[in-house]
Amino acid sequence: MTHVATPGADVRVAFVGAGPGEADLITVRGAARLQEADVVLFDSLADPALRQLAPNARWIDVGKRGFSGVPHAPRGGGKENTGQDTINALLVKHAQSGAQVVRLKGGDPSVFGRLEEELAALATAGIECEVVPGVTAALAAAAATQRPLTRRGAGRSVALTTAMTQSGDLVAGRHADTESFYMAGKQLAALSRRLVAAGWPAETPALVVSRAGWPDQIASEHGVGTLGDATVLHSGRPTVVTIGVGATAIGTSAEPIDASRMTTASATGAAPAAASSDPRAEARSSTP
Ligand code: SAH
Repeated sequence: MTHVATPGADVRVAFVGAGPGEADLITVRGAARLQEADVVLFDSLADPALRQLAPNARWIDVGKRGFSGVPHAPRGGGKENTGQDTINALLVKHAQSGAQVVRLKGGDPSVFGRLEEELAALATAGIECEVVPGVTAALAAAAATQRPLTRRGAGRSVALTTAMTQSGDLVAGRHADTESFYMAGKQLAALSRRLVAAGWPAETPALVVSRAGWPDQIASEHGVGTLGDATVLHSGRPTVVTIGVGATAIGTSAEPIDASRMTTASATGAAPAAASSDPRAEARSSTP
């Protein structure tokens, strides 16, 4: 049975999407929940400036694998790698103590955020909670590069995808007109090979954006077949890869990606390699 907070219920835990980057990308509702919080369990992706919204709350770093700006701790050890069971237990413990708890997650809580485990743990303990959405990384990348994910007539579907399986394998298919890949920044060359093998023409537009929504965001353009070229530029930074119609520059023909019609990069207006000699220039010009 789905456990949904009923109006007037005593909601003890709010899952809040922090947004993808700078603090002001949080929603107004998310900011309000932070202001009401006694305890905040936060991930490494959330902007530390958000602390100003709840200076008196107890802030607990439960950042797991991901981008904390420090080398990754081995699985199961260190505060950069708090185990999921520990996080679940902390949520339940603080909620049961009577505290108002915010679980702050980078981007949107419902997208690659292990939300299901945490909701299940709270439901099992009979604790009411709510989920406040946030701006997910793929949307921030689209905004940063001014490349809409959907296009009238040509881009009718968008897939939020991770190429990484639970066992650490890399898989890729072809599911939508535009696909945004999360958590593949370290394996761009392998992702490129898998995508071509899955039927994406090598010339399909591919956009790589790292630290979308931050002042130092970087965007570079490639073809699906040359994604590996982006590895060094985005190394060590949270990175989202958008391929297909939604990666096409505005003003060029964004037509449905059809293998039989995609023989040259110019057929879709794709820039097969980095668009400018200094891709950081694009990032600077697209800084909000
Ligand atoms: N819940 C988050 C995703 C968490 S999974 C969201 O909705 O955005 C972590 C992955 O998200 C990273 O590996 C990266 O692929 C992506 N990501 C998160 N923040 C990002 C950012 N600012 N720029 C680019 N990619 C980002």
